[in-house]
Amino acid sequence: MGVRFLYENMKPGVDPLGPESIIGFVTGPLVGTKSHGAGRFTVVSKSPLTGGWGDSNCGGRFGPALKKTGYDGVFIVGKAEKPVYLLITDETVEFRDAGHLWGKDTLETEKIIQKEAGSNLKVAAIGQAGETLSKIAGIIHDHGRAAGRSGLGAVMGSKNLKAVAVYGTQEVPIANEEGFNRVVAKMRECLKKLPEDVENWRKLGTPMVYDLDVSIQDAPIQNWKGLYKEVYPLERARKLNGDAFIGYVKKRYGCAQCTLVCGAVLEYTDSNGNVIITHRPEYETIAAFGSNCLIDDVETIIKANELCNRFGFDTISVGVCIAFAMECYEKGILTEKDVTVSI
Ligand code: SF4
Repeated sequence: MGVRFLYENMKPGVDPLGPESIIGFVTGPLVGTKSHGAGRFTVVSKSPLTGGWGDSNCGGRFGPALKKTGYDGVFIVGKAEKPVYLLITDETVEFRDAGHLWGKDTLETEKIIQKEAGSNLKVAAIGQAGETLSKIAGIIHDHGRAAGRSGLGAVMGSKNLKAVAVYGTQEVPIANEEGFNRVVAKMRECLKKLPEDVENWRKLGTPMVYDLDVSIQDAPIQNWKGLYKEVYPLERARKLNGDAFIGYVKKRYGCAQCTLVCGAVLEYTDSNGNVIITHRPEYETIAAFGSNCLIDDVETIIKANELCNRFGFDTISVGVCIAFAMECYEKGILTEKDVTVSI
């Protein structure tokens, strides 16, 4: 739906960060129904990072909340004169002033919108990265679920669009209810027969595959130049595998309509003594900041993930940029002067 709409409505050669660019938040036909695994949504646009097609898929609870407003998707074009956020409910579609939200991180933004416009609202917001048009800016929902890829946070920033907030209560109409229920019941039966390993997936989440992927060199090591046995052997990778995060898990959760339930909220105390509640990093984040930057300290990874989510950065792109910069420094392409920041 997103591809078709953009293809038909956006002229070739449009600047992804210009007013003619279109950004869409779209669901699929099953989202909002009782079908298993159909709780996600996709953000679509022309990518400012690649200049090509850009899409980014995200879990959480935004997808069904949008679908239940009665809309399959929403597409935004133009540029607001001042910062705004888009509010969509059963009753209304309106742009609201977001001047007081500009400069705030994604977590603060979500909380403020829920406080002022409705605690039920599901919010997808940009942070400072999107506001400043970083081409690796993502869109963050529910404090830690990310439409991270393709730089689409910058497209929102270029439109002065700080967030999209949705909440609907309508039933999604089904053409053949009886047939649909039959298929859903069949799916449920199949899901009862999932292999035992699925319980590990629920407990450990995507970090479960990290050490295996490092050991088969499927995960990047030192900007893809490092060798597994020499610089990042299994003993190091194991410090960031699924078990490494278990001691921090406060509660487990899943995205809407998902049986796999692989998310977790973590609690840890930072170096300043502050207790931080945050989401468990996903496998890709751990690989980008871990093996790719030769880091094996679990709290460093948790912190990096938390900062990226708050500022609205794509964790994968940030880790990869850092690894690239590290190699440039090693080769003398970047010098001490280039990497010194005075605050
Ligand atoms: S809970 Fe895990 S498996 Fe399920 S939709 Fe969310 S990220 Fe995907």
